[in-house]
Amino acid sequence: MDVKVKKIRGTRDILPEEASLWSEVEGKIREVCRVYGFGEIRVPTFEETSLFIKTTGETTDIVEKQMYTFEDKGGRSLTLKPEGTPSVVRAYLENALFQRGKKTKLFYIERMFRQERPQKGRYREFTQFGVELIGSKSPLSDAEIISLAFTLFEKIGVKDITLRINSIGCFRCRGPFRDALKEYLKSKLPELCPDCKRRFERNPLRVLDCKEDKEKLKDAPRSTDYLCEDCKKHWERLISVLEKLKIPFLVDHMLVRGLDYYTGPVFEFVSGKLGAQDAVGGGGRYDELIESMGGEPTPATGFAIGLDRLVMLVEKKKEERIPLWIVNIGEEAEEAGFLLMEKLRRMGVRVEMDLTGRSLKAQFREADKRNAKYVLVIGEDEIRKNKGKLKDMETGKEEEIELDEEKIKERVC
Ligand SMILES: [Zn+2]
Ligand SMILES: [Zn+2]
Repeated sequence: MDVKVKKIRGTRDILPEEASLWSEVEGKIREVCRVYGFGEIRVPTFEETSLFIKTTGETTDIVEKQMYTFEDKGGRSLTLKPEGTPSVVRAYLENALFQRGKKTKLFYIERMFRQERPQKGRYREFTQFGVELIGSKSPLSDAEIISLAFTLFEKIGVKDITLRINSIGCFRCRGPFRDALKEYLKSKLPELCPDCKRRFERNPLRVLDCKEDKEKLKDAPRSTDYLCEDCKKHWERLISVLEKLKIPFLVDHMLVRGLDYYTGPVFEFVSGKLGAQDAVGGGGRYDELIESMGGEPTPATGFAIGLDRLVMLVEKKKEERIPLWIVNIGEEAEEAGFLLMEKLRRMGVRVEMDLTGRSLKAQFREADKRNAKYVLVIGEDEIRKNKGKLKDMETGKEEEIELDEEKIKERVC
């Protein structure tokens, strides 16, 4: 078939088989978040563009290259949200959630939009599950959200996830580190890729993140050697608690994350099963963001996980069998079968029937193909006697059964 209208590059359709996997994962997310005391928040699809420029950061790849920004009919610059934290923090401030208690724990499952090069597991419209824990400065809060993520991975049966973690320090310790890094990068500059040459001036930390130049920068200064007293204490306690929680982690001194608002620990969840694009998600602490958006100084930590990639790691379960398929001979039997089917469905029984007027043989073939456990045959004779023929599709055995929904339910379920 020649379909005239096609989907936009980087978007996708999720068909029923995969969608059922998605709702299972989303169900587990809600379950785990409830246990951890996180409440769900739903935020708008688009925001004022300035929100992301001020928070995500002007010099980040997201803001520089990837946002879907458009002007509405009133001449306002709007952007489809490329990540969740700015909207959640805006909502936190706008709805004065800080008045409800010292700590606010929120989670979201939201669509995001970024104009990146599409590849396996990376789309331009994608779904993220994220949590934001606002109001606590304790490293135990960082450990709490990391532990939440690992509880979720276990619940959905995703194995081999490792935490990659680093601390880039607060804005106080960032200065000396930045200077040392720039000093070091100066001599390397001619060898680096054009992106990094540009980053060197505007955002030198991001050079560490470059996949292309990673090997050349192995002996770069480490941010953890430049931490101030507070950041150092925070970092050491977090690492020690992660050990006690038996969370598999790896300290990665090159990890800086591509967002401007991070302070202190940053981390990524990495899967050995995803190849080059191995991060399932990541996050970090952002103690200065809320104040920079006009709120009181409020520490916070959070992460986001890409569901498109996570669902790829969940093993598909075999489809459960349809307990009953009704096969009919003739128009009268078709309607009797249909009415019986509706009664059974209202009782919660999964029943199917072919309503396309096909032959008996074709109906049986369909029932077999769809893996039905029982087939109930109804013809004119059967209606008169009020008894149908029930065939066990596994053993091939047939029996007569009264055309009564209670009795049929009891027999097939
Ligand atoms: Zn610091
Ligand atoms: Zn580079």
